[in-house]
Amino acid sequence: MKNRLPLPFVSLLLAWPLAAQAATITEERVREAVGWIAADERAGRDTGSPELQATAEWLSARFAKAGLNQVKEGSWLHEFTLPGWLVDSSKVAVTLVRTAGKDVQEITLVADKDVRQLTVADAVAGAKEECTVALLDDPVLQRLLTANNARRPVVCELDEQSARWLAAGGSHRVLGNRRQAARPVFLVRAGLLPKAPADNAEVLWSMTWSAPAAEKIEVPQHNVMALLRGTDKADEFVVVSAHYDHIGIGRPVDGDAINNGADDDATGTTAVLLLAEAMAKMPAPRRSVLFVCFAAEERGLLGSAGFCARSPVPLDKVVANLNIEMLGRPEAGKEGKAWITGADLSDFAAIAATALQRGGVEVVEFPMAAQLFAQSDNYSFARRGVVAHSLSAGSLHEDYHRPSDQVEKLDIPHMTKIIRACLELTLELANRDQAPQWNDKGKQRLQKVKDR
Ligand SMILES: [Zn+2]
Repeated sequence: MKNRLPLPFVSLLLAWPLAAQAATITEERVREAVGWIAADERAGRDTGSPELQATAEWLSARFAKAGLNQVKEGSWLHEFTLPGWLVDSSKVAVTLVRTAGKDVQEITLVADKDVRQLTVADAVAGAKEECTVALLDDPVLQRLLTANNARRPVVCELDEQSARWLAAGGSHRVLGNRRQAARPVFLVRAGLLPKAPADNAEVLWSMTWSAPAAEKIEVPQHNVMALLRGTDKADEFVVVSAHYDHIGIGRPVDGDAINNGADDDATGTTAVLLLAEAMAKMPAPRRSVLFVCFAAEERGLLGSAGFCARSPVPLDKVVANLNIEMLGRPEAGKEGKAWITGADLSDFAAIAATALQRGGVEVVEFPMAAQLFAQSDNYSFARRGVVAHSLSAGSLHEDYHRPSDQVEKLDIPHMTKIIRACLELTLELANRDQAPQWNDKGKQRLQKVKDR
């Protein structure tokens, strides 16, 4: 008789991938990851914000810890640029005058140490201009921080530990094609300005100021990516992606101005991360898998466009892009179900339906799925010919792009189930012989894009 492995050991081997999956894609880990990404501390992950950069660093550290590979040695980041401005806080001059009744106080602020310039304005100087001053606990502070139409200078008092204060130090970059307003927004280190008078007398502020003209530049932005090397088809790639940016801080709704973007798309980012972590623990698939978190999706798919314009791997070797969007808010009755954008354009949806079924997830129709095909990062790949679709398991709910898109509203068990099923789909795409193909309708659609 030949030596044989004892039966329990064989079944352990067979069950091993499943066990590894169960160990990493759990409700607890989903809640932890999506909770971090969508926390108020991330300030809505606006592209160009220090909080988005912090998110990129966190994702990089998780990829590193999971034992994934860097595509380009020494960095987890893929760089692209957006137009912006160079602003120099060390060259501003600001003197504030505070008038409360008969009490007139002049406060001269030291450039960079006490006062920093946040936004780019048309004007570069003003004398004795009325200005708006918002103290730290002022409810309109967050709105002023994002003021895009300031006709008078704005001064916000901010804690010197805050990410915005730190990011506005010295010579720094500000995103935007146009100057943001007629007058700039300045930040003042908290504690320097006098408190409101005890008798609640009206306080008037004016300021004399100057700031150097901003210089137009290209500002580096970053997608985050991690590679899992395949085996016999390692030079072919499956791209699993989601966007990790959102729309930042906006107008307060019920006192909350932070657009957390929990569903859009902290859920997709969580899926990409947990899929990468799970697959790093499993036997390598045949094709390589590239996990990518895109910035600037909310600014018009610019992160994925930048990625495709200077792809770190040959795009003609990318057999499919599985892009993941909004998993956390299923419509009633659609719990544990998913849908695919542009499902009638290729055989991707049929492949997905079979693979997701192995994870107990049914693929269903969604009324706007055809329209949404061109509304997320998959489209940047599709327009270059890569079979690329977005998978969603959510809805266009009333909290979409509002501060109320928060973690508390996510259906974590539903999300966990979908992410586990996405593991089946990623494995299928990475292991199957035949790569997904556009059908005739898909080819016609792409031809129209090319012709435009
Ligand atoms: Zn989105």
